[in-house]
Amino acid sequence: MNLAARTTRVVPSATLNVSATAKAMAAQGLDVVNFSAGEPAADTPEVVKAAAKAAITDGFTKYTPASGIDELKQAIVEKFSRDQGIHYEPSQILVSCGAKHTLYNAAQALLDPGDEVIIPAPYWVSYPDIVRLADGRPVIVETRERDGYALDPAQLEARVTPRTKALILNSPSNPTGALYTRETLEAVADVAKRHGFLVISDEIYEQLVYGETPFLSLVSAVPEIADHTLVVNGVSKAFSMTGWRIGYAGGPKALIAAMAMIQSQSTSNPASISQKAAVAALRDGTPFFKELLTDLSPKRRLMVDTLNAIPGVTCPTPAGAFYAFPNVSGVLGKRHDKGTVTTTADLATYLLHEAHVACVPGEPFGSPHHLRFTYTPTIEAIERGLKRVERAIRALT
Ligand code: PMP
Ligand code: GLU
Repeated sequence: MNLAARTTRVVPSATLNVSATAKAMAAQGLDVVNFSAGEPAADTPEVVKAAAKAAITDGFTKYTPASGIDELKQAIVEKFSRDQGIHYEPSQILVSCGAKHTLYNAAQALLDPGDEVIIPAPYWVSYPDIVRLADGRPVIVETRERDGYALDPAQLEARVTPRTKALILNSPSNPTGALYTRETLEAVADVAKRHGFLVISDEIYEQLVYGETPFLSLVSAVPEIADHTLVVNGVSKAFSMTGWRIGYAGGPKALIAAMAMIQSQSTSNPASISQKAAVAALRDGTPFFKELLTDLSPKRRLMVDTLNAIPGVTCPTPAGAFYAFPNVSGVLGKRHDKGTVTTTADLATYLLHEAHVACVPGEPFGSPHHLRFTYTPTIEAIERGLKRVERAIRALT
């Protein structure tokens, strides 16, 4: 088959891939502890399910406007006003089939071949490939664990070229859990304004912060940057709705209109039933993510403390999201009876097959010394899984 060249420039999503392998092993009857999937374990809130059932009963099952229904856009306008203090018109809102689709639409609407998008590393696995799928060029700016993964504005500015179209910020970050401070946001906004590029601020883990550092949205910190910012968010994480596929964005009218046009020629509207469910989540779902945080807080502590007790592994405490991102440099280079663990991909494969524990290697996040463990499984599963990880790592020589 003679496929398009772009299919050779991208790879399948590593997070979805590991997760699918772990689920397939479990389906064969193996006791796999799955720390790979980036989704809450809790069920979708009842109030959300009730809204979806009502939508079906009421026959709200037909095409909607491609960019989303007015009622949901209004709920999103209210959400941005309440939480970010920013006032969008409904024409500045687009509802898409997940935040991943929102980002895809943004890249398609913004990039000509060779245009550059700056992405701080470690980054969520899909950012560079979404840029490549739009024939753009990802430009990676490293951040360091010892600086709390803070983006250095001078380093950012050094990578700006006449082709720079956008910067992707992700706070709280997948995979590091790091949050951007007011100082960094102000400095980044200053660079963006002076050079006239767009900031894509992916705030999908907004509600999942554990108190040490508060979440601050770019547009709350620097309201003047709103004209140059696309704020991306969604209901997947905060409301345990990963399968419902609703993401959304607020931003400059012309960009939103272009993204909506692309959506109208590709997916059409996000599922009508999911849109009604998202209205209920945004209007009545707040108590749910408070419960989610109460559930996740002790799991975060347990995960981080247990990982730190494993020889060769060090793990900072993540301030947000639900991922631990331990440094495993002390394990790389060790041997087992079938070979050497040279990369974190080797280590993740070894842990999957020897310990039946699924985690995501660091390389697809642009971070070759780390593994990512999601701490959404039960306390019992975290204890059981990490015991096996410790045993497998201690067996390396
Ligand atoms: N952004 C980040 C940082 C993510 O981790 C994810 C993964 N869920 C998404 C966007 C996309 O989420 P969804 O498509 O489920 O809304
Ligand atoms: N974003 C989640 C993760 O990083 C879900 C899978 C995906 O879409 O990447 O694991």
